[in-house]
Amino acid sequence: MQMRFATDLSADEYVRQRAWEDARLDNCPLHGKAGCSFASHGSYPRQTPKGTRIARWYCPDGNSTFSLLPDCLCSRLPGSLIEVETIINEVEESPSQEAAVYGLRIDVGLAGVLRWIRRRLFLIRTTLKLLTKLVPILQDCRPSISSFRAALGVEYVLPALRMSAGPHLYVLPPPVGFGPRPQPKKGKKKPFQHKTGTDPPLKRE
Ligand SMILES: [Zn+2]
Repeated sequence: MQMRFATDLSADEYVRQRAWEDARLDNCPLHGKAGCSFASHGSYPRQTPKGTRIARWYCPDGNSTFSLLPDCLCSRLPGSLIEVETIINEVEESPSQEAAVYGLRIDVGLAGVLRWIRRRLFLIRTTLKLLTKLVPILQDCRPSISSFRAALGVEYVLPALRMSAGPHLYVLPPPVGFGPRPQPKKGKKKPFQHKTGTDPPLKRE
């Protein structure tokens, strides 16, 4: 189970300061102070940012592991929330996803970058749409970074949501929340429709 490590460190600072060593979880989230055998379970590495580790704990009685994810990092995806937000915002402000890609230096080829973007765009839009239903002050927002920036009055929306969403985090999908990954609605696309080479045409929105 992932939980918040409340910190305003950036991803780079988190790594440089080895801040996972400062993460604290005093009581078992399942059993509180009552005598289970809850204990620290060291830390595990994440590939990006390079050198990242995440502190974790284990309760043998509940057979559960708890990891403390710092507010700067994506849940269940590599990298930081600010990185994802910067790219999603660029895509939203570009005439097309392809146009946005030319400004990005992700070295996996155009089809790979588009997949990378679409996966995150879908997750972020689902998150923002859910929040417009869950949080009254956000009900008039469009599910876009710029609309949420204006409503929240913050420079970066995704870390702000991680810090303020509270119990909603367990409903919201990654990379902001700790909830399940939503499944894209089944479209007209046939399963196993894999083309080599070019991607299918973009859906106009
Ligand atoms: Zn326990």
